[in-house]
Amino acid sequence: MTRLWSRPLSTVTLLCTGALISWPIFGHIAVLCVLVVALLIVLLHHIYNLSLLQAWLRDPGSSSVPQGSGSWEYIFAYLVRLLKRQHASKFGLSKALQRFERAGAALPDAVVLLGDNNRIVWCNPRAETYFGLRLERDRGTQVTYILRQPQFSSYLQSRETSNPLSLRLMGNAGERVVSMQIVPYGNAQKLLLGRDVTHWERLETTRRDFIANVSHELRTPLTVVQGFLETLEGTHASDPQFVERSIALMSEQTQRMTRLVNDLLTLSRLENTNGSSDEDKVNIPGLVESLQHEAKALSAGHHTVTAKIKSSDWLLGSIDELQSAFGNLVSNAVRYTPPGGMIELIWERKEGNPVFTVKDNGIGIEPQHVGRLTERFYRADKSRSRETGGTGLGLAIVKHVSNRHQGQLEVDSWPGKGSAFSITFPATRITTAREPEPIPVTASPQDN
Ligand code: ADP
Repeated sequence: MTRLWSRPLSTVTLLCTGALISWPIFGHIAVLCVLVVALLIVLLHHIYNLSLLQAWLRDPGSSSVPQGSGSWEYIFAYLVRLLKRQHASKFGLSKALQRFERAGAALPDAVVLLGDNNRIVWCNPRAETYFGLRLERDRGTQVTYILRQPQFSSYLQSRETSNPLSLRLMGNAGERVVSMQIVPYGNAQKLLLGRDVTHWERLETTRRDFIANVSHELRTPLTVVQGFLETLEGTHASDPQFVERSIALMSEQTQRMTRLVNDLLTLSRLENTNGSSDEDKVNIPGLVESLQHEAKALSAGHHTVTAKIKSSDWLLGSIDELQSAFGNLVSNAVRYTPPGGMIELIWERKEGNPVFTVKDNGIGIEPQHVGRLTERFYRADKSRSRETGGTGLGLAIVKHVSNRHQGQLEVDSWPGKGSAFSITFPATRITTAREPEPIPVTASPQDN
């Protein structure tokens, strides 16, 4: 940039030199007067340009930079260039900020930038959802006013933040478990990161409950068997009647354990084979008939078991799975219906969909239990389930099998009057007994 001071300096130098040269010719008074007037004009010129600059500086945004004259022309031109550069970098910065904000919004986790005193500087939409924040409203607020849990405050203050803290939070979209971590950066800034771990937490609880339930289920028969063995070792070993009774009871308990392990294996198989079942052609009318015989055998003549096979449909599915699911429903009906009761197996089409139903007039189920019956180890009637050798896994298996066949399990029950369990399959699973024979193509003389 041209030296700004050189032009006014050369003007003043020129005026002074002119005055010195014309001094002997015009006399000192005249020369001094002219010099003063000329310097005054120069001064006024600068004052005028200064006032233009001042007026522009008062509101640099709205009005354009003044033109100026003389050396001020350079100053104003320089200001214009500066302004353009500033605009360009501002534009670049706002673009970068927009990109950063878009990236922040796309993050699957919550991010909050905390400034001095843990005040909220910025957060992404996920953080608004998880922590119940609103950036517009909460910018500048201390984060502890929003996340008020004492565990969070002490975590924020502690120096050891490498291990995340999991908290149950009420966010903008309901309650969830969020795993939070503080990452310090810069001078006193911190990054608060949050990840939704509700699903993992639930899985972990289910896993813990499952292990506790299995252990509990196995402990009872094991304790019984162990008790008998200890007694047999002792004094009663010589009493043949006692030995016989003990062996019978131990055998009952081992059968119970075997049933439990078998059901656990079935469930695990169903859970580990993802997606749909096999696509065998399953003869359901035949299966219903054989289940009727099984039910009669299980009931030992204590119930009236009937089968209404109203449809000849076969199903596309897994024969083993369907046999296990239908068998569980039938054995439940026998076990939860007092002697003299009626059990009915129905295979029919309803509104175009194939439906298998088992009806009984047994003990029924209180409405508060109905929604939870398919949970593993959930029992509405604990004592009856145990007395009749129930594992508490039957309906969980039924539900899995039904899902794997895209079926819908429905339970209607009336306490003291009976129950109806039905599985409705999609019409797309209907198949017929045999594929139509392909018509053999024989060449006739006319074809040639
Ligand atoms: P369980 O081995 O205990 O029978 P299930 O999963 O087969 O386990 O059934 C869960 C619970 O549902 C049972 O404990 C019982 O209380 C109830 N239940 C199932 N079927 C019937 C039924 N037909 N009538 C009355 N209660 C039933």
